[in-house]
Amino acid sequence: MHVDIVPVGDVPATVKREASDGLRSVYDCDVSMHEPRSIPAGAHDESRDQYRAEEFIDLAQRVGKGDKNIAITGKDLYYRRRNYVFGLAYLSGSGSVISTYRLQTSSDGGFSNRSASDIFADRVRKEVIHEIGHTIGLEHCDNKRCVMNFSPTVRQVDVKEPSLCGSCQRDVI
Ligand SMILES: [Zn+2]
Ligand SMILES: [Zn+2]
Repeated sequence: MHVDIVPVGDVPATVKREASDGLRSVYDCDVSMHEPRSIPAGAHDESRDQYRAEEFIDLAQRVGKGDKNIAITGKDLYYRRRNYVFGLAYLSGSGSVISTYRLQTSSDGGFSNRSASDIFADRVRKEVIHEIGHTIGLEHCDNKRCVMNFSPTVRQVDVKEPSLCGSCQRDVI
């Protein structure tokens, strides 16, 4: 599998590195870094001052060179009735997206004594692994430690491991 990462807007080098390292650590895949793209015209919702996640998925799908493509953005994303999303992918689709916007809170609420930058790096890895998991057909997993657990808060993201549980792992093959 080849995964192309598509940075959209300004994406720090550290975020790109965590994303590609995270994917390589879990999936048998080659990862490439696409040229940065600008924010898709029409993605911004004026009244919410947020961005439609679907537009980023469409962009990744359109310009990405991989079997699977993931857009990464610092913009605040939403999807339908959800107030915000950390990421989004369609099951077994080729495009996906993550946003770092809400992953950058300063601490994990005392869950561990790690530095804010380490915690942020882990969240980026987990979200990227999670969304690519959906693109290869994995649905949400009930195991709270599994990276495919549905985690709408950073607290829940922090509880997860940056890896697939045994059951999800078996579904990949
Ligand atoms: Zn999910
Ligand atoms: Zn699982």
